[in-house]
Amino acid sequence: MHEILTEIDAIFDEPATVDESGCLELALAHLRRHGVSACFLVAPCGSVRLMHPRTHALPARVDPQLLPGAAEPSHPERVHLDTGIHGPQPVAFLPLPQEEEEERGWLGLLLDPDAEPPHLERRERSEVLALARCAARYLRLARRLDQQRTRSRHLQNEERVLRRAFGDTIDRVLEEREQHLREKREHIDQLEREVEKRSAALREALERAEQANRAKSVFLANMSHEIRTPMTAILGYAEALLDPSVSEAERLNAVHTIRRNGQLLLDIINDILDHSKIENGQMKAECEPCDLPELLSDVYSLMRARSEAKGVPLVFRAQGAVPRVIRTDPTRLRQILINLVGNAIKFTDAGYVRVTVCLCPPAPGADPAAPPQLQFSVTDTGIGIAPEHQARIFDPFCQADSSTTRKFGGTGLGLAICRRLTELLGGQIDVESELAVGSTFRARIDPGPLDGVELIDQPALELALASAARPAAIEHLELQRPIGRVLVAEDGPDNQRLICFILRKAGAHVTIAENGRLAVDLALRALADGAPYDLILMDMQMPVMDGYAATAELRAAGYTHPIIALTAHAMSGDRERCLATGCNEFATKPIDRADLLAKIHRILRAREAGSA
Ligand code: ADP
Repeated sequence: MHEILTEIDAIFDEPATVDESGCLELALAHLRRHGVSACFLVAPCGSVRLMHPRTHALPARVDPQLLPGAAEPSHPERVHLDTGIHGPQPVAFLPLPQEEEEERGWLGLLLDPDAEPPHLERRERSEVLALARCAARYLRLARRLDQQRTRSRHLQNEERVLRRAFGDTIDRVLEEREQHLREKREHIDQLEREVEKRSAALREALERAEQANRAKSVFLANMSHEIRTPMTAILGYAEALLDPSVSEAERLNAVHTIRRNGQLLLDIINDILDHSKIENGQMKAECEPCDLPELLSDVYSLMRARSEAKGVPLVFRAQGAVPRVIRTDPTRLRQILINLVGNAIKFTDAGYVRVTVCLCPPAPGADPAAPPQLQFSVTDTGIGIAPEHQARIFDPFCQADSSTTRKFGGTGLGLAICRRLTELLGGQIDVESELAVGSTFRARIDPGPLDGVELIDQPALELALASAARPAAIEHLELQRPIGRVLVAEDGPDNQRLICFILRKAGAHVTIAENGRLAVDLALRALADGAPYDLILMDMQMPVMDGYAATAELRAAGYTHPIIALTAHAMSGDRERCLATGCNEFATKPIDRADLLAKIHRILRAREAGSA
């Protein structure tokens, strides 16, 4: 389009050899001597188009009345034309010869005021008119050129408009396309990222599942091994006892072995329960005010027998002042200490085991403004742990050395449990050890708010520990006292026999009920007869009516005498459930004779004190 317009422009821009006013000038040259001062062209519609010389003023139009007909011959008439500026001026009009397709026009002659219209000879007249026609043609061409120029301008404008419109549209379309593409690309990127994220999550889940599967297999293999080892000893020695020819010494040895391995099995089961609770996130700390010397005394009295049996003294130290009462979960803290002290005694044949307690600043890396932590260091002079094993021993089922299991037994769960428990109590655990020199395990816990708490030192702690021996002695004396009449609700014949044996040995009169229904009936009848049982030992899992329903029915009937729950369910929450049902105490199976008797005596003593 642009090229065409440029071409058209070039045609019109060609310089004319003779311009229109030049033609009129030549015509005027002929006419001047006839008294013509200027000449002009009149278009067929009467409009004045061209004047030479231009110094003269003329109206824009000529009244058609003034214009002679085309047939008028060579003698033009003199008329007056009002220019509006110079007033009426004498003029004469010569009709231009009309060629084919040409518009007719006139040659206007402005006359000198005194001049008459010229009488032109034939040749002169035709020359003049030819020049005028030529001027008229130029005029028309110029007009057409103007028109073409105008059209060209229009076209250019249109082109610009179209260009703008098209340009805008194209730009917009392109922009829209690009935007669309960008969005598509972004969408694809997002999808790819999403797919990548999901694949990673799936890979992770798969990895976790595989890990869990591997851990489960390792766990089962470990457990199978752990349980089979003591089981082999128990079954083997039990069978040996059936032989009537075993000597008294062999019998005693077999019984001790069976007992020790039974205890080991129980420890394993407890560890597994704790470990699974930790794994399931069910292990919760139940913090309460806790008397520190009392708790250390408990640990001391529990572990003392073991350390004495090995000839390894167990000592407790307070380094600096320590709080008498802290806020923590005493059961979990006791469990940590028993585990660490148990290991220390287990892995030490000579020297000592020392438990040091102190208040210490927050661990390195912790907030320096944080309150101090309470640290328990368990130091032994035992076999020690090689540096390459020290980091792993806190992992579940990990033992520093495989020969350890063979020599000392154990599941490799104890320290893993300790680590989680210390974390649960707001602290952490670590170890420092040297092979053949000994180890120090440090467990730090959050002791809770210490403002206004009484502080005690080494002598006060020693005093508390010294008195730790006394309760055992008192319990021992208490055990000698007859227990009275006991109703045992228990369905298993072996357990019935065992409980009867323990209680009768302790001087009790025992009645057996095989289920909860019978127990309720017997207890209520004895109460009605005015001779209630001193105590009911209630197994919680029984046929016909379980211990929960039986206890609830007794309490609902106004039965106020003591009931101790007996259950093989040792998971957290079981104790609370038994107490909530109305039991006064809770003992677990397998039965720990000393623990059961101690609980019975404590309950009976409390009742006596209450009724006194
Ligand atoms: P377990 O004692 O049942 O094997 P633990 O998790 O309590 O499991 O201990 C893991 C391992 O750490 C032990 O098998 C032993 O190799 C090592 N260990 C723990 N305590 C001591 C210690 N006081 N002295 C030497 N080694 C120890």
